[in-house]
Amino acid sequence: KKKRLYQKDAVPTISFDQIGGQERAKKELREALDFLIHRNRIRQYGIRPIKGILLSGPPGTGKTLMAKAAAHYTDSVFVSTSGSEFIEMYVGVGAQRIRELFQEARKEAKKNGKQSAIVFIDEIDVIGGQRAGAQHREYDQTLNQLLTEMDGIATDQEVQVLVVAATNRKDMLDSALLRPGRFDRHITVDLPDKKARLSILELHIQNKPLADEVELEQVAVETFGFSGAQLESLTNEAAIYAMRDGSETIRQEHLSLAIDKVMMGEKTDRETTQ
Ligand code: ATP
Repeated sequence: KKKRLYQKDAVPTISFDQIGGQERAKKELREALDFLIHRNRIRQYGIRPIKGILLSGPPGTGKTLMAKAAAHYTDSVFVSTSGSEFIEMYVGVGAQRIRELFQEARKEAKKNGKQSAIVFIDEIDVIGGQRAGAQHREYDQTLNQLLTEMDGIATDQEVQVLVVAATNRKDMLDSALLRPGRFDRHITVDLPDKKARLSILELHIQNKPLADEVELEQVAVETFGFSGAQLESLTNEAAIYAMRDGSETIRQEHLSLAIDKVMMGEKTDRETTQ
């Protein structure tokens, strides 16, 4: 079976409203995306198009969601892959796959009658890490191909491509990627603060039967350090506890158990990977 390299999602339905917190990141991202939306005007001024946006921050903070919302906001098709798909590829194959990824993005846009495409690369550090000598030649070629594709992006093309990449190890990236005209917009996506945790909890509890007496605010206080992904998981676990209990609604005790469960899960994950 051929390994699937990329996923396609015509224009994603997820919008910025469905991302809790991250107000500063969302604002910065929207400002950058406005350049894509108004690309005819920026061309009149001779402004260089934005070709790459780098999202960096801890796992589970919503980087993938942000990339999808970016496609929604700009009415672009969304084609995505992950650096981890390129691990242990033969020399030359990675570069070929990068070429195909960009071709696919353009093709998908035309097929859907869209003028722009977002190519999302998760875990960019796997292919864009600092060059580490001859034994990493396959990554070098992959990275070079990515740089070539980005350098080839121009504002007068039929389909405007924007590359959004995510990493939680920005310090590891090769400086060639960060040069002007490549990933020159950097947006930090941090762990949510208390207010953001509350809005993420509210978003994910929305479709679940929450008991009236529950103080989500309190849950937000008790989940210091949780990522958005962990908060999502917490709401799901709480619903499972409620169902097992035969309770019609999710009560505070179910949420407390779920907090513990998610915290413990993290701990065992860490222990097993060490
Ligand atoms: P990774 O670095 O592990 O790939 P990520 O930063 O790309 O993580 P996402 O994949 O976007 O994180 O988030 C995973 C899931 O966590 C989302 O599908 C969503 O359910 C939830 N989530 C994360 N952040 C948020 C948020 N800010 N608002 C609402 N839900 C969130």
